[in-house]
Amino acid sequence: MVFLQKLLSVKIFKTAALLIAILLLTMPCFIQAQSNKILFDGSVPQSQTIVTGAERSVVFDDFYIAKTLRVDYFLAGDAHSEIVYFSQMKQEPFWGGSHKNLTDPFAYGTYRYSAYDSVSRQLIFSRGFSSLFQEWKGTDEAKKMKRAFPMTAVLPFPKNTIRFVIEKRSFETNDFEILFDRFINPTDYFINRENIHPLKVTKIKDSGDPADHVDIAFIAEGYTAGDMEKFRNDAQRICDYFMSVEPYSGNTGHFNFYAIEAPSDETGVTIPGKDIFVNTNIHSSFYTFDMDRYLTTFDTKSIYDIAANVPYDVVFVLVNSERYGGGGFYNHYGQSTVDNQLSLVVAIHEFGHTFAGLADEYYNAEVTYSGYYNLKFEPWEPNITTNVNFETKWKKMVSPDTPIPTARVPKYTGTIGMFEGGGYLSKGIYSPMMDCRMKSNEASEFCPVCKDAIKKMIQFYCE
Ligand SMILES: [Zn+2]
Ligand SMILES: [Zn+2]
Repeated sequence: MVFLQKLLSVKIFKTAALLIAILLLTMPCFIQAQSNKILFDGSVPQSQTIVTGAERSVVFDDFYIAKTLRVDYFLAGDAHSEIVYFSQMKQEPFWGGSHKNLTDPFAYGTYRYSAYDSVSRQLIFSRGFSSLFQEWKGTDEAKKMKRAFPMTAVLPFPKNTIRFVIEKRSFETNDFEILFDRFINPTDYFINRENIHPLKVTKIKDSGDPADHVDIAFIAEGYTAGDMEKFRNDAQRICDYFMSVEPYSGNTGHFNFYAIEAPSDETGVTIPGKDIFVNTNIHSSFYTFDMDRYLTTFDTKSIYDIAANVPYDVVFVLVNSERYGGGGFYNHYGQSTVDNQLSLVVAIHEFGHTFAGLADEYYNAEVTYSGYYNLKFEPWEPNITTNVNFETKWKKMVSPDTPIPTARVPKYTGTIGMFEGGGYLSKGIYSPMMDCRMKSNEASEFCPVCKDAIKKMIQFYCE
């Protein structure tokens, strides 16, 4: 009897195990079917591990349709803490990025976001990026209060449920730590599918299919409806300048430029320190962190709502002002004024941050963020080094005759070396040349290291 009972319980156990196995195998379909009716609980179980699978190539059509999934969120906290607050999801009508290069080979950016197929757990999309929040964390204000900065992540629109992860590089360890982790089901009816607000778009440079070209969306800021002829001319002038500077000039056939005519109520831009307030499209403002020339916006949702009119890779805001200034964040957005005598070089410098993840090579300016770089590690930017692991940077481009570090003396003007000073610090961080477009407005061009990084980024978007 005891023996029989044992046999029976083994049988029941086996049947139950089989049922559970079948249930687990059909789970993704189950989640998808359910979520059409109910609010999708996207929480990721603690036991779920990530299989990076970066070595496997991702076939676009297996996982995506050629539209954009946009995830809006906030990076919030203070000098010591950081949290991601989810805001909303949107479907945009185009996908401007590569259909071949979906996972990020560069490992640039203080942050990154990734998408994993929820069934195979394969990494199917990743992008590094930077934020205004990371700069603010180093200010005195961040020691006294908490603040939230709007952010936006874009990826091709998935066919099936994905696991969406936002990570940040730890200042102490340089390893990525998860800030946000959710399943996203593409059939979720809380992904906003409203029509975009249509705006007039002029394709000011057309080289071909957005899937294998770099697509740059120029957004009008501080231009009224009556100012649009000026905007088109400004956009053309800045496009022409970009395309005249190495290494862009050798790759002009890889670029599409769009000028999106988003009219503002008023002309100009807000300058709080001069008591000038102008009602513009995306509410750009000088005096970011109380620096008179630092021009940014906190309204990134509006930037992307406007950009959704075109298939974009890079979003760049042209600000209708003659004041000197701009700002740029890797894989986020960049902006510059258009009418200052230095606007062209400012624009291409900010575009260097935004498009290619280049660091500032200057070190003697008013811009100092306390503890922005941890000198124990190599910074992620391609054009600065802490000499912790110089081999991973431009060491092979330095001639054996050039001493490392290299003295900033006239003899080495125009020589690639390792010059102390860069990344806002005069000590402990080194840059590739005495001068570069990423260092000063007087530089005649980008240094060879920056040129090389820009070329690699162009290639990434054009395969
Ligand atoms: Zn800069
Ligand atoms: Zn450089």
